[in-house]
Amino acid sequence: MSCGNCFECDNCYGVCPRNAITELGPGKGFAIDLDYGKGCGLCTVECPSGAIDMVPEE
Ligand code: SF4
Ligand code: SF4
Repeated sequence: MSCGNCFECDNCYGVCPRNAITELGPGKGFAIDLDYGKGCGLCTVECPSGAIDMVPEE
């Protein structure tokens, strides 16, 4: 079970239309550059484990 935990399937990395997601390497997860992202939510929808939450920008 991996609910809520990233298991490095690369889905979010592959679907981001802005290339805002960077792979940090095996076991290190991913970084999302909030200045490049456009808030489309694709990564959140496509994540099979629900590991990505979208929150309003302050
Ligand atoms: S919400 Fe941002 S990081 Fe996620 S897919 Fe869209 S542009 Fe990329
Ligand atoms: S889609 Fe979800 S599980 Fe897959 S790499 Fe991205 S955050 Fe991790």
